Amino acid sequence: METKAINKPADKTDKKVKPPKPVKSTASRELFASFYERNRLKLVFAVVLQVMTAATGAVISWILGAVVDIIAGGSGEGLGRIAIATAVFLPAIFIIEALGQRTKACFVHKGIKQYKNTAFSLLAKKGIGAFANENTGGYLSAFTNDAASIEDNYLNRTVLLVYYIFSFAISLGMMVYYSPLMTLIVIGLSIVPIVSTIAMGGGLKKREKRVSDKNEAFTSRVKDLLGGFSVIKAFKAEKQAKALFVSENGEIEEAKCSRRSFAGMINALSASAGGVVQFGIFLIGAIFALRGDITAGTVLIFINLCSFVLQPVQAVPEYIASRGAAKALVYKLADKLEDNQSEAGGEVINSLERGIEVKELGFGYEEDKPVLQNLSYRFEAGRKYALVGFSGSGKTTLLNLMMGAYDNYSGSLAVGGVELKNADMNSLYESVSLINQSVFLFDDTIRNNITMFSEFPKEAVDSAIRRAGLERVIAERGESYLCGENGVNLSGGERQRISIARALIKNASVLLVDEATSALDNETASLVSNEILSLDGITGIVVTHRLEASLLKKYDAILMLKNGSLAEVGSFDELMKKKGQFYSLFTVQ
Ligand code: ADP
Repeated sequence: METKAINKPADKTDKKVKPPKPVKSTASRELFASFYERNRLKLVFAVVLQVMTAATGAVISWILGAVVDIIAGGSGEGLGRIAIATAVFLPAIFIIEALGQRTKACFVHKGIKQYKNTAFSLLAKKGIGAFANENTGGYLSAFTNDAASIEDNYLNRTVLLVYYIFSFAISLGMMVYYSPLMTLIVIGLSIVPIVSTIAMGGGLKKREKRVSDKNEAFTSRVKDLLGGFSVIKAFKAEKQAKALFVSENGEIEEAKCSRRSFAGMINALSASAGGVVQFGIFLIGAIFALRGDITAGTVLIFINLCSFVLQPVQAVPEYIASRGAAKALVYKLADKLEDNQSEAGGEVINSLERGIEVKELGFGYEEDKPVLQNLSYRFEAGRKYALVGFSGSGKTTLLNLMMGAYDNYSGSLAVGGVELKNADMNSLYESVSLINQSVFLFDDTIRNNITMFSEFPKEAVDSAIRRAGLERVIAERGESYLCGENGVNLSGGERQRISIARALIKNASVLLVDEATSALDNETASLVSNEILSLDGITGIVVTHRLEASLLKKYDAILMLKNGSLAEVGSFDELMKKKGQFYSLFTVQ
């Protein structure tokens, strides 16, 4: 029997950091496109205003140079004109700067908002089994820490890069206009800072990726410790919990420290190299001015323009490096999002008349460890089936496979005549509902937890509430009662009944029930089981540990699983008469 491994190795945060490879997947294309969707005009305005801001720097330099030359000339002629021009120019600088900042902020915030929304839409396309194998901490980190890094290092710096590039080009152009020879000297002196900062860019990228990985591990750990808080207290494991926290916290802060120190080193290197360049220009400019090749005003213009040339030289390599690091975070999320996507296309399940047909089904979570093997059975539409067997015999796995959680099974599993591997998952979820043993409730009202935030007629809601045995809870607390985080404000039984009402309101043709009655008191349990058994036209497959003769007799067939295979099948009376494996299980219980 062939079984394939479905577990990819979990992301090891301490594995050797490889330079991220920009795989142009559909997800990454969608994520990058989301930054610019209906946001291009804002980007264009932001860019134009940045170009204008860069030009204002050159104009200021020109004014300063002109003033110095007028002073050096001794006559003071033209000073009045320059004063008037400056008075007009200063408010214009303020307006350009203010508008530039505003449009940049609008572009950045719209971009990051759309990015997060798109990432969530892609996340929602994942298959039902995705999170069994994935680390949700990675997503939390992607939506918080990584998103903040992308906002600043990618979006914000994209606009700033334009400013720096134009500032560099305009200033250099002006330098050439005043003195090509001095310009060549500026370029010669700037080569060292340019080369050294570019050379260090790769190191920064590596450190940014490490921070993201460590943050992912830290977020997962905190999530785990908070989720298991009551277990930690009950087992007096506070010290151990703190040790785990301290270790993870130490690693993330160490990674951040390394990134910050490295970025600081690049800054320090470029700043001191910049100082050397500026001082060099001052000295050489002074010699040229003394020889009469250029005026004193031109020396001042060069010194002033020098910062507009050096600033980009210092910032651009670092910006390009951190922009690359931020892009790598987008690719990292895209890779995670591409895994376990449920296919939107495929064959649509139109009718459940043909029931569910299982033929020589085999499946394993790990290679060479089959959990289900050679399972064949036909579940007819409208009938009710009980799945029984010892713990670990594969009952839950079978239900999860029917819910389309994994498609790497061998043999065949057809729902309504459509092989699940080829089925459109949306049509499957419309026809099949799973009532799970672990109920998840949203921190919202009972009504929203039943309707899953959709609109339903009042009669449909009332009917689901009644059939799930929730009438008393609703009478006492009302539909708007808040369930609390994962339903903490409700008892286990109440939570379970809400999950049953949630499945019933969907009017699915197949109800898969996984020990849904285990958290209920006996009386409610029989009520709910009877309710499921009485649902006409609904196919019910119920995993049960509650081996009560009166209840089991109502099922059309009982399937007993043993080590992932079908050990026995028949009605309660048939199986009891047979005195085989079911009989032993029943009498032991
Ligand atoms: P049952 O519902 O009959 O108790 P399950 O289907 O839950 O049995 O489990 C069958 C076997 O598969 C068990 O050995 C269990 O440890 C293993 N198993 C269940 N879920 C996973 C999983 N997500 N990853 C790896 N092994 C699993």
